[in-house]
Amino acid sequence: MERVECLIIGSGPAGYTAAIYTCRADIKTVVYEGMQPGGQLTQTTEIENFPGYPKGINGPDMMEEIRQQALRFGAEIREGEVTAIDVSQRPFKVTTEYDGELLADSIIVSTGAAARYLGIPSEEEFKGGGVSACATCDGFFYKGKDVAVVGGGDTACEDATYLAKLCNKVYLIVRRDVLRASKAMQHRVLNTPNIEVLWKHQTKELFGEQQGFMKKLKGAVLYHSDTKEERTIYVDGFFEAIGHTPNTAPFKGVLEMDEEGYILTKPKSTATNVPGIFACGDCQDRIYRQAIVAAGTGAMAGIEVERYLAEHK
Ligand code: NDP
Repeated sequence: MERVECLIIGSGPAGYTAAIYTCRADIKTVVYEGMQPGGQLTQTTEIENFPGYPKGINGPDMMEEIRQQALRFGAEIREGEVTAIDVSQRPFKVTTEYDGELLADSIIVSTGAAARYLGIPSEEEFKGGGVSACATCDGFFYKGKDVAVVGGGDTACEDATYLAKLCNKVYLIVRRDVLRASKAMQHRVLNTPNIEVLWKHQTKELFGEQQGFMKKLKGAVLYHSDTKEERTIYVDGFFEAIGHTPNTAPFKGVLEMDEEGYILTKPKSTATNVPGIFACGDCQDRIYRQAIVAAGTGAMAGIEVERYLAEHK
């Protein structure tokens, strides 16, 4: 069976940065890219807060540059997901989506997080026909139309201001009477004339009509959080920005996690409860969730793997 010194699971800024560090330390490293090669940043447009890009850079370009940097030092980057890890033996036995099983002396989990959906029944019917969790990916399709964004955090506010530039009108559906977003983002939203904030509103149902093979969204029935009074809005796009869930399902029961599934790491470290397995990036970060932080913890994981392998060989 193939044996690698370091197996990295996930390919966002955390995974690729970890690979740069392990490869530069001469550790044979294989990266499994997972279902979204390059991670969540491949779904964003402009990134303005990653140091080193004074003019900003778009997400996919930045991820390609970090990927190239990992390749330059010898990382082997493969398609597919890791579906299970067996920690009852050393080296660990890992099951992959396409390449069968392999052995790993150390593992870095950097599987990131995925967008959350409301979970209302009609939502599924309109995915691809109006419902989206990525304004920067799909906003273009709603040029000149009316759309809604759900959420009150930075993502929702960022999405709303982004869509306001493209669309005729943007409803921002906020379940409380305050925004969770940073003050700067709040100001932007509240000063954009074609954004209407619907305070204390939640979504009851989505409706639309069949068009060929697809169901096309026409609007949403909302209700007031306190009075429960209903209100209908007519929109072609419904963008959900209500947070993320960590992609940690294959590690349940193996790695210690919090109640939301974020992997627990030791303070000032990326070490998990299993010696030899490290976690970095958004799959273990419920607080910051920033590309630069993910890259930083990726570097930590790379360094910790180097030390772990040196001690255990
Ligand atoms: P957050 O968890 O910060 O916000 C989620 C929002 O969705 C909250 O307003 C929450 O409401 C609302 N929400 C959650 N569930 C529901 C529901 N079922 N129905 C209606 N509303 C719901 O997630 P974000 O993705 O916005 O941000 C995540 C992190 O990333 C944050 O730390 C943020 O600061 C950061 N970020 C930073 C950016 C930047 O610096 N440029 C850009 C984007 C994100 P409530 O407030 O009532 O809980």
